[in-house]
Amino acid sequence: MTAQESGPVTAAKGEPLVVLSDVQKHFGQLHALKDIDLSVARGEVVVVIGPSGSGKSTLCRTINRLETIDEGTITLDGQPLPQEGKALAALRAEVGMVFQSFNLFAHKTILENVTLGPIKVRGMKKDAADKKARELLERVGVGHQAEKYPAQLSGGQQQRVAIARALAMEPKVMLFDEPTSALDPEMIKEVLDVMVDLAEQGMTMIVVTHEMGFARTAAHRVVFMADGAIVEENTPEEFFTHPTSDRAKDFLGKIL
Ligand code: ADP
Ligand code: MG
Repeated sequence: MTAQESGPVTAAKGEPLVVLSDVQKHFGQLHALKDIDLSVARGEVVVVIGPSGSGKSTLCRTINRLETIDEGTITLDGQPLPQEGKALAALRAEVGMVFQSFNLFAHKTILENVTLGPIKVRGMKKDAADKKARELLERVGVGHQAEKYPAQLSGGQQQRVAIARALAMEPKVMLFDEPTSALDPEMIKEVLDVMVDLAEQGMTMIVVTHEMGFARTAAHRVVFMADGAIVEENTPEEFFTHPTSDRAKDFLGKIL
C-alpha cells in the first residue's frame, strides 16, 4: 500500500506551517526528490527515516533553501520561500537547522555562538541577546559552559549548543538532520532529551533520525523515504509495527 492508499495521517494540531507540493529536485541525471507532497502542521513533530541516499538531507535543505528546487512549491506559514537577499536571510532565521556535525564557530565562545545570529540578523542588543542566550544554554543543560570554546565541550554538549543557537532565532520550525549520528552512544540520550523537551513544548519539528525511541516518544508521524520519494507515512506505532511497503519492511528489518 502506498501513502495515498493508506490515507493521509491527520496532523497533530494547528494549521499547515510547512507545505511542500509536488516538489522535484534533480542533481544532473539523478532525480533526488520525486513528487514530494508533505504538509507539516504547527506543533507537529515529523520523523523522516529511510535508507542512505534516499533524499532525507536534500528534503531538509530545500526547506531552508540551502538547495533550490526544480519544480513544485514550498511555503512556510503561507509564504513561498524567498529567492535571495534579506528575505532569504530572514527565512533562514525562521527555519532552525541542526546538522549531524555541530558546525559551531570554533573561534567564538559558546555564548558568542548563540548570540551572533540574534545580534546580526534579528538586530538584538548585546545585553538582551546575552541574557536570552544564557537562558537557552541553561535550558539545554550547558549554562555553565558559556565562556568556553566549542573544542572544550563534548560532542553531546556541542550539539546542545547548536540547538540553543538555532532556538535563539525564535524559529517557526526546527529541522534536525541526523543530529545524533556523529555522537558517542553515551551522549545520544542527552541530545534526544533536549529534543523531546522541545517537542513537548509544541515546537514544530522535522527530524531525520533512525532513533526509534525518539520517534515513538515524540513523533506524531513517521515519513519513510526511498529513492527520493515518500513511500509511506503513518503514526510511529503503526509504521514500526505494520509497515506496508516492501521498501519499509526491508529497511526496518535491517535497522531494528
Ligand atoms: P540521505 O540524506 O537520505 O542520505 P541525500 O539527500 O543526502 O540522502 O542524497 C540523496 C541523493 O542525492 C544521493 O544519491 C546523493 O548522492 C545525491 N546528492 C545529494 N546532494 C548532492 C549534490 N549536491 N550534488 C549531487 N548529488 C547530490
Ligand atoms: Mg542525509
